[in-house]
Amino acid sequence: MIAFEIHFSEDAMNYFQESCKYMPGGVNSPVRAFGSVGGEPVFVDRAKGSKIYDVNGKEYIDYVCSWGPMILGHTDEDVLKAIKDAAEKGASFGAPTVNELNMTKLITEMVPSVEMVRLVSSGTEALMSAIRLARAYTKRDTIVKFEGCYHGHSDSLLVKAGSGLLTFNQPSSPGVPEDFAKHTLIAQYNDIDSVRALFKENKDKIACVLVEPAAGNMGLVLPEKGFLESLKNLCSEEGALLLFDEVITGFRMSAGGAQKYYNVQPDITTLGKIIGGGLPVGAYGARKEIMEMISPVGAVYQAGTLSGNPLATAAGLATLKKLNQPGFYEALKAKSDILWNGFGENCKKLGLKYAFNSVESLGCMFFTDGEVKSFAQAVKSDTKKYAAFFHAMLKRGVNLAPAQFECMFVSAAHTDEDLAKTIAAHYDSLKEIG
Ligand SMILES: *Cc1c(COP(=O)(O)O)cnc(C)c1O
Repeated sequence: MIAFEIHFSEDAMNYFQESCKYMPGGVNSPVRAFGSVGGEPVFVDRAKGSKIYDVNGKEYIDYVCSWGPMILGHTDEDVLKAIKDAAEKGASFGAPTVNELNMTKLITEMVPSVEMVRLVSSGTEALMSAIRLARAYTKRDTIVKFEGCYHGHSDSLLVKAGSGLLTFNQPSSPGVPEDFAKHTLIAQYNDIDSVRALFKENKDKIACVLVEPAAGNMGLVLPEKGFLESLKNLCSEEGALLLFDEVITGFRMSAGGAQKYYNVQPDITTLGKIIGGGLPVGAYGARKEIMEMISPVGAVYQAGTLSGNPLATAAGLATLKKLNQPGFYEALKAKSDILWNGFGENCKKLGLKYAFNSVESLGCMFFTDGEVKSFAQAVKSDTKKYAAFFHAMLKRGVNLAPAQFECMFVSAAHTDEDLAKTIAAHYDSLKEIG
């Protein structure tokens, strides 16, 4: 191995160009590359509270929040201390620790449908494992997902609807065998009849229906009244499991996630993002009878060298404890509402009728008129306009997701001053882009 260090003068350095030589697209996760908004990504040096700072020291009010995890804001003192203390004691042992007990116990107390949990290292891993569990439990192979919902990048889930509405789905990425794709059926969000039709065509074959209980990966699309309840009823009539992918909504919409917020209990729940407090963690949980099918109690194999990692559980536990304090979500909602109302006022003043969806601290403005209640309506958005808006906001020191079909995340660290600045930047940006 040749040891080397790259040395450039500050001025000559272009981190992104240089990164593109060593990482595909210069990044380790595609959306970070600014592909859908153009330009070059901000290289982050550090963060504190509601702010991130780039390598040149420029400050931005951050509404990406690492795509959701940083609900307390960045470098929260208690989380930081928990990580430091854990690091002092050892980064990883590959043996049980007390914090894994503390954390899993707290999760079962907070999330209504979850009696037992398995910790993993990412949302993708949680979904992949949860599907295996659902298939084992029901002894069926087929799964149903909704167009526009994202459940990580495992083979079975990178599938898009084919042209024949009820059959012939296609892999949405090269490298996914068609043989895998054929086990994944695609339904339409907020359209219970599309799910009913799939059950009818595939009698006794469907293991589970996966859904983001509030969909945060096609912008933000909220479930219409009765949609989740109908899914629940349909699944139990058909002997399938209902899987809520709460990787975004878990500990975001309430201390008990979307299932508590909407009062609908799924059979299996997947968690991620917030649960790691910024470190890599995922989890899946269910009632005991289902979870005890997992190895070593049951025969469904799933393992992980770094699962329940001490630093990650320390960060996660410190985060969950703060969220579980009375009044946390009320305060976060009050802040978020200031922002959402401010955006609404701005649009009114400017005579714009863009669709805007929000729930608690999640929000998304779509550059399309009218309502967005479906994937088809979401994708009508003018993504070029979003790109212009994104850059106009960034220029004014507000960091939004570099893509239209993502959420804004408000954190407990956002101050009244941040909110006021953001609302002003929103007005000026919309005015600028016309
Ligand atoms: C982010 C996300 C995932 C994947 O989680 P990773 O930790 O990125 O693997 C799964 N489901 C939903 C709803 C997500 O938003």
